[in-house]
Amino acid sequence: MLQWLSAVAGYYTLVGVFMKIQFLGAAREVGRSAVLVDTGESKVLLDYGLKISSEDVVAPLRPLPVHGYLDAVILSHAHLDHCGAIPYLFKAAEPDVFTHPATVPIMEMLIKDSVNIARSRKQDSYQLSSLKRVLRKVKPSDYGHEYEVTSDISFEFQDAGHILGASMTKMHVGDYKVVYTGDFKDEDTRLHKGAKPPGKADVIIVEATYGNKEHPDRKELENEFIEDVKAVVDSGGSVLLPCFAVGRAQEIVQLLYANKLHVPVYMDGMARAISEIYLEHPELIRDYNEFYNAMRWVNWITNPRQRQEVFNEPSIIVTTAGMLSGGPAMEYLPELKTLKNSALFFTGFQVPGTPGRQMLEEKKMNLGGILTNFSNVNIKYFDFSAHCDSKGIHKFIKAADPKLVLVNHGEEEQCNSVVEWVKDEIGCYAFAPELRDKFELKDFVG
Ligand SMILES: [Zn+2]
Ligand SMILES: [Zn+2]
Repeated sequence: MLQWLSAVAGYYTLVGVFMKIQFLGAAREVGRSAVLVDTGESKVLLDYGLKISSEDVVAPLRPLPVHGYLDAVILSHAHLDHCGAIPYLFKAAEPDVFTHPATVPIMEMLIKDSVNIARSRKQDSYQLSSLKRVLRKVKPSDYGHEYEVTSDISFEFQDAGHILGASMTKMHVGDYKVVYTGDFKDEDTRLHKGAKPPGKADVIIVEATYGNKEHPDRKELENEFIEDVKAVVDSGGSVLLPCFAVGRAQEIVQLLYANKLHVPVYMDGMARAISEIYLEHPELIRDYNEFYNAMRWVNWITNPRQRQEVFNEPSIIVTTAGMLSGGPAMEYLPELKTLKNSALFFTGFQVPGTPGRQMLEEKKMNLGGILTNFSNVNIKYFDFSAHCDSKGIHKFIKAADPKLVLVNHGEEEQCNSVVEWVKDEIGCYAFAPELRDKFELKDFVG
């Protein structure tokens, strides 16, 4: 892979802005997103997240460290694989943290939750005082405004259509224009409007979670999901819907509301607090009226005793954790297993190695130390993704008409598939960087 060419004396003044991009994480992997932009004058990070897996023994995997001074972090969104390692930076530095205002309370909630989980597993983590230091340095950054980060770097955010506040970053570094997509979805969902292509850029750093896959049509998927849920409750059964707390839980409740299901729908876990943040941002929601009504319609589980009563009649429970790695979902599973005609429908991707993936593939999981069989439960996965698929990735790259494409945030096969497509269809430089790889822009962009 490419090596960084060392600078010679006077180099910076001869060629104008000098700029390199280095991958400190999310290189041929999903997790620990971290891209360093270094102009020689300024250093800015795009995201600094963790890679969390159920096999972590010591602590979740961090990105490579940043050496020396750091001016700022531009944070695309609140998921821990993008923000979870930012507090570590504050041991040695006090960088500004530019992020969308809606990202701030969600990040705070997710980081606090992850620190508590780390403590309960006796894993290494930072203190919550570092989170306070991060929050003091936040520079709230709205969509559609240009923000100056340093004397030679400015940026503008646009809606990435992924979760509340998720932002695509359009950077100006001297004369170069660099787009960092972060996680994005180009198609509308019931909750969010899809991202618009970001326009022309010299360089695009693009996510490839689904670099070689196409999602089903969202409308058809919604119909299939509703039909299946209806079939279960019509036969007297109940449905447990493990959902991610940010975005998916809200979308699913809104979908159930819009289809006028006549059985009680409950929402449990962190999704409730996150929904309150969503309610504060009507401008970021596609159909706020429907969303607001859905949030008033759903039954909130506010104390653990209520959980024992929900299965007294056919019902639907939307709860965390989305991959059955903890949360209130654990408390519903033992009873769900004993019910007639019950179902467990996953509404998000189940990462290999998680309890959810085991449940999906083997119909069993570890409950309180006992491997428990769920063979009598109807278990199914619905591909409600908040990421675009290969068609969306291709569309955004084409629209950027770039000279250099850097593909990250995807497994190796997914990243390589996007690189091959770029080489065949666009013909410009394209790489799936490995960890530590550095790219000097003048070598590619001129
Ligand atoms: Zn994300
Ligand atoms: Zn991500």
